[in-house]
Amino acid sequence: MEKQGNIRIASENMMPIIKKWLYSEKDIFLREIVANAQDAITKHKKLVDLGEAAAEEQYRVTVTTDAKAGTLTVEDNGIGMTEEEVEKYITQIAFSGAADFVDKYEKAGGDGIIGHFGLGFYSAYMVSEDIEIYTKSYRDGATGVHWQSDGNSTYTIGDCDKETRGTKIVMHIAKDEKEFLKAEKIRELLHKYCSFMPYEIYLNPTGKDDKPVNTTFPLYLKQPKECTDEEYKSFYRETFSDFNEPLFWIHLNMEYPFRLKGILYFPKVKKQVELERGKVKLYCNQVYIADNIKEVIPEFLMLLNGVIDCPDIPLNVSRSFLQNDKQVQKIAKHITKKVADKLTELYKNDKERYETCWPDLATFVKFGCLKDEDFYKKVKDIIIYKNLAGEYHPVSSFYGEEVSEEDAKNGKEPQAVYYVSDENKQAQYIRMFRDAGLDAIYCDTYIDPHFLSYLEYKNPTRVRFLRIDADVAGALKEESEEDSELKSVFEKALDGKHVTVKTEKLKDEKVPAVVNVAEFARRLSEMHAFYGMGESPADITLVVNVANGAVQALRSAGEEAQKKAAMQIYYLALMNYRPLKPEELSDFVETNTLLLENYLKK
Ligand code: ADP
Repeated sequence: MEKQGNIRIASENMMPIIKKWLYSEKDIFLREIVANAQDAITKHKKLVDLGEAAAEEQYRVTVTTDAKAGTLTVEDNGIGMTEEEVEKYITQIAFSGAADFVDKYEKAGGDGIIGHFGLGFYSAYMVSEDIEIYTKSYRDGATGVHWQSDGNSTYTIGDCDKETRGTKIVMHIAKDEKEFLKAEKIRELLHKYCSFMPYEIYLNPTGKDDKPVNTTFPLYLKQPKECTDEEYKSFYRETFSDFNEPLFWIHLNMEYPFRLKGILYFPKVKKQVELERGKVKLYCNQVYIADNIKEVIPEFLMLLNGVIDCPDIPLNVSRSFLQNDKQVQKIAKHITKKVADKLTELYKNDKERYETCWPDLATFVKFGCLKDEDFYKKVKDIIIYKNLAGEYHPVSSFYGEEVSEEDAKNGKEPQAVYYVSDENKQAQYIRMFRDAGLDAIYCDTYIDPHFLSYLEYKNPTRVRFLRIDADVAGALKEESEEDSELKSVFEKALDGKHVTVKTEKLKDEKVPAVVNVAEFARRLSEMHAFYGMGESPADITLVVNVANGAVQALRSAGEEAQKKAAMQIYYLALMNYRPLKPEELSDFVETNTLLLENYLKK
């Protein structure tokens, strides 16, 4: 006998609101329906374990698309429902659950609920104009029940002759949602949302050679010691469709004080310039929730690829609530700590591998330090830089002793550590450093300028970083008096060029002069350029080397020749700092030709 009833919640108003919010993510309905089917199986299995229901040979969820009939069907052999249960769970709970969801969503002020969790059965109305349920409870003597509703205000319920235990949800797909009748679309959605659900899911099975679309026991659920490298790698390939091998991984496995399982992979960075965004997929009891949830997973970890399953995260709350949730903060901290531990362990136990992986890790680690002080504290001694000899050393090993306040007052500065930002452009400086037995470190990732400032900020009394061309004179000079005569020759020649002239006795006699640009001024002008505040060329200093033969010979030359020679020396020094501008270059070439002519005539 068929009965009609009214749904007590005024659901006519609900759908437009839900559709508006979930417009781009209505796909989640399939997750909700399949997750219900899985839950129904779990419930049945529990009853079997308790001896309250007869055992089932093969639990399964079957998803069928029927374009002709215009239906998408999800069927399970779980616990099933009696008529009273359908009334209670579907007509009442499912509809009021959806009303609750709408209410929460409105309260959250469009702030969103992660993964749109908690909408439940009702979400199927986002894509269906009508839904039928055929169900039969596990209870002895239960009869089949048929329920039908277009999701608005009325429904019908009555008997039907369903043979098998379980529930079949038949969704009559709405006219403008026809894509959900395509098997490929459904396969894609099952892959995204249901990949790790615990009972087998079959899509349009034929009865022959059917393969489930999901992995019922994903690798991350296993104990780390039971997993092989090959398993980790193939799990990575399948989950992220990345055929580059990951560098290494971290298996998270925790029961207390919160449950957390997952695997984080360090991918190979494809290019240094761009931070490649990774994907950390969040699951809750094997149900996919969403990617890269920054409220749960520290932002810098999103450069990694991974899956994290954490049933203890409250998902049907607003994002801002989640952000301030103490438990969630603990989870994020724990993940950060595990990552730092893994890096430290690798550094200690297999330095060679650590060094090989470093070019791929460096940006991630530095970015992590900039974003999270706790992370910096944990990894500060395993941040490595290559020196001029090509060996890696922890950056902290280059720092000096702490400069006391007293010494600082007397003008003592923290240890200067020189760095190379461009091996080719700074080749002359590198050679001079090498010849003088001085060292420098290579800092050539794009994050280094920020990171070095950060290190200075963290260790203000122990280190300051100077680019290798910032203070060559300071690093390479010998004690000497200022040569005011030479100085004024150069000053005259360079009049109007905004160049400060200094004379020094440099260890390297071959070099007539070098250009220096003060570190601070250069950083400032780089910052201006970075923020698009226009060019503000940092003032340069020309350090004239009194130990050089050409410089000495210039003393006794006539005034005109002196001027030309001074300019030529300036250009030579400048060329090692930056490319000459067109007018500088033509001037340089002209004088050079003249010199050649005189030289050959001699
Ligand atoms: P939730 O799953 O969050 O409780 P839903 O709206 O999705 O909310 O479902 C409401 C209730 O309907 C479920 O709690 C469950 O008792 C019942 N139900 C839904 N789908 C099934 C199913 N396939 N088999 C048995 N019971 C179901």
